[in-house]
Amino acid sequence: MRDLDLIYQLDNLYLELDLKEKELEHIERRLDIQKRNDEKQRYQLELENLHKIINDNQTELRRKENQLEDMKYKLSNLKNSFEKANVIDNKQYEHFISSVENYEEKIDTAELEILDIMINEDKINNKIVKTKDKINEISEELGNLIKKYDLKISDLKQEIVGLKYQILTLKEIISVDKLLKYEKIKAKRKKAVAIVKDKACSSCGMILPTSYFDFLQKNDDIILCENCGCILYYKKE
Ligand SMILES: [Zn+2]
Repeated sequence: MRDLDLIYQLDNLYLELDLKEKELEHIERRLDIQKRNDEKQRYQLELENLHKIINDNQTELRRKENQLEDMKYKLSNLKNSFEKANVIDNKQYEHFISSVENYEEKIDTAELEILDIMINEDKINNKIVKTKDKINEISEELGNLIKKYDLKISDLKQEIVGLKYQILTLKEIISVDKLLKYEKIKAKRKKAVAIVKDKACSSCGMILPTSYFDFLQKNDDIILCENCGCILYYKKE
């Protein structure tokens, strides 16, 4: 094989290596994993909040239930003492009736309030279930993403090692002076070798003088495109 064929291969291997290294770098940043993690944290905070609301609700419920029991107890005491009383005048009777009504009204209100608290608690419990489902869903997704990434990362690393090995192997068989010339040009640009296609440099499009073209067909030497500085490579069909 001619040195120029090898240099052309080498240039392509470097390009492929560059692509793989960039892909690896991108994957290792794991941006979508970070995004999903942030989302999971938001749901976890929401869940904590909902648990706090449930606790407050239950405290309030117990307080209301105690109040209700207390009022029921007082009402029944009032009724008992009225039944035991022997002589009662109108004024005492009216006072008794209005006290009973007052208690009954308060008991009704407390019962409605307790019902409201319980309905609210049901709603919050539903939200808790939904939030937990969401957290589980994200956790599962994260687990799968991490597995997928780990696999992809180890694949890419293996491919990169392979490419580096191929590059080293090629470098050993290319004659030193040409390799040095190539590396000098490669240091300045991403793609150092341009194929000659339709008698033009494929990198910049410049039509090459016929003398260049003849030279490339017959020799295995490095010549550069006058316009863009690429190493010109004529691929034999
Ligand atoms: Zn050119």
